Amino acid sequence: MSSRIAILSENISNMIAAGEVVERPSSVVKELVENSLDANAREIIVEIEHGGRKMIRVADDGEGMSRDDAFLCLERHATSKLRKPEDLSALTTLGFRGEALPAIASVSRLTLQTCGNDEGEGVEIQVEGGTIRQSREIGLPRGTLIDVRNLFFNTPARRKFLRRDETEIGHIADVVTKQALAHPDVQFRLLHNGRCLFEVRRDSSLPERIAAFLGRPLLKQLLPVEVEDGVDLTLSGYICPPEVNRSTSGAIYTFINGRCIRDRVVQHAVIEGYRNLLMKGRFPVVVLFLTLDPAMVDVNVHPTKHEVRFRDQRRVHDFIAARLKQTLQPAAWLESAPADEPSPGAELQPSASPPVAPRHPLAHTPETASVSRREQVQESLDRYARRSSVESPAVRPYSSPPRSAPGGATAEPEVERERKGGFFSSLRYLGQYHNSYLLCQQDENLLLIDQHAAHERIRFEKLRRDYRRGEVPRQGLLFPEVIEFDFKAAAALQEGLDTLAAFGFEIEPFGGKAFAVKSVPAVLGQTNVEELLHDVASDLEAIGKSGAPDDAVDEFLMRLACHGVIRANQALAPPEVQALLDELDQVDFKAHCPHGRPVQVRLTLGEIERLFKRT
Ligand code: ADP
Ligand code: MG
Repeated sequence: MSSRIAILSENISNMIAAGEVVERPSSVVKELVENSLDANAREIIVEIEHGGRKMIRVADDGEGMSRDDAFLCLERHATSKLRKPEDLSALTTLGFRGEALPAIASVSRLTLQTCGNDEGEGVEIQVEGGTIRQSREIGLPRGTLIDVRNLFFNTPARRKFLRRDETEIGHIADVVTKQALAHPDVQFRLLHNGRCLFEVRRDSSLPERIAAFLGRPLLKQLLPVEVEDGVDLTLSGYICPPEVNRSTSGAIYTFINGRCIRDRVVQHAVIEGYRNLLMKGRFPVVVLFLTLDPAMVDVNVHPTKHEVRFRDQRRVHDFIAARLKQTLQPAAWLESAPADEPSPGAELQPSASPPVAPRHPLAHTPETASVSRREQVQESLDRYARRSSVESPAVRPYSSPPRSAPGGATAEPEVERERKGGFFSSLRYLGQYHNSYLLCQQDENLLLIDQHAAHERIRFEKLRRDYRRGEVPRQGLLFPEVIEFDFKAAAALQEGLDTLAAFGFEIEPFGGKAFAVKSVPAVLGQTNVEELLHDVASDLEAIGKSGAPDDAVDEFLMRLACHGVIRANQALAPPEVQALLDELDQVDFKAHCPHGRPVQVRLTLGEIERLFKRT
């Protein structure tokens, strides 16, 4: 019987490799720029047309290639960066697999121009779908130019996955940004449809580059990191204090031996370094370079080299986490961490309990652990923000001097209760505990309401109701706020302007990466518009253009709802409390809440009596 197995033709293997290496235009840019950097280029120009689907061109002034090498580099497994197996464990170049050029050439129309001498004797080779069509000698300065057109012209399935030009150029800008951060000695220029998106000069320092890419205001906030472990690990770069934070991990830029890698261990270590300083769901802004002996890290784990494997994970992890903690430590926000601060005034709990655990066994929902952590963090941040006003007693008695309700009338909850008659509005309000929880009596039960969670929940439900109705009320800003974003966020915003209009935002492009915000959803009230918009931009990707899944919409609404709500550790006057309780009655508590946090906890008389050993 004849054999059914055949060795795949070179071209098919290249296309299969392309499936792994070339996911979208930005992957082509990544591979080409890496090659330019490996060739010791001092200047790299990236030109894009139509988000890369029409043209991607990368030109460098690196070493260039000889005529023979120019042909060889298009062959599979052809590389100048690796000779013997031992080389794999001592890699100092970005490339080594010898796969990228043939893979890209197999799914596009590629022209390579290169010159590896100072006599100007260069060569040009044209390839179409992996087949060499033409070659000729041409005069060129030293360096290499690769022009990739009609990406995926012969793989329609892949082509279908390309998103709009704005999205693709956003990914491309992200790739070039990372390379430019990692190589401050190289000049980069990125152009889209003939327009310069950015240019960083050879002499621009890392802080300047960080500011150029991630936003000017960061420049004043950057904390330098420069440490060694005394053996072989080095960590350098810049980090931001915790109050500069984002809703995704997208602004955690980590480089391992000069390679931009979102490694799980390193990411975890960074977040660990900020532990207790950031609220759950918030992420720091850092640009960090880890350098170690190449033999201590395996980069040959993934075709796109997005992952690595450390020989000693724990050591790397703990080194990074400890150094970040140290860098953040002298700052003021640590001094006021909840554990260090004895709460003046009466405590609600038996005095035998440790002073830092204001939570009781009664809060027995499964989420309790993470909820309390989150609140502690929130509280410590809030305390930092309002350190001057922490002297208020832990229990604020109901009889404390009531502030006037708007309009001069002092609210009379006892009377209001008769009028409204809803579950929450008819509770008897006893006082505020720890400026964070409302204590209420409901028949024989004691009800604790988390004021922050309650307010968030009210806003979420209102927003969702208005959104479903198709009209979210807006509130115009007195002065439109102009905000500058990074490229990816700007691209996402540009694409999502219509979507955002449906959520109550009025936003207009303001040239470059800037947008003018004219209105925000009215329900958000006074809020930090800049922070809000950064969050919105990073969430937009999940919402998509239209018909987003309900879950994604809910997540997004929840994020909006979080902005500018009543925080934990905020003293509330009785009229404010009553307004909150009244509003709670308008919320449908049967509907699910995306964060799943409890708003209230009930303690029965029996439970309280058991605490005092009365039964
Ligand atoms: P790898 O980078 O893994 O070696 P590639 O397919 O990306 O594989 O490139 C193959 C080879 O082509 C490289 O090893 C290098 O010798 C050469 N090459 C590619 N791009 C350039 C460039 N811009 N300048 C000089 N040489 C290049
Ligand atoms: Mg390469």
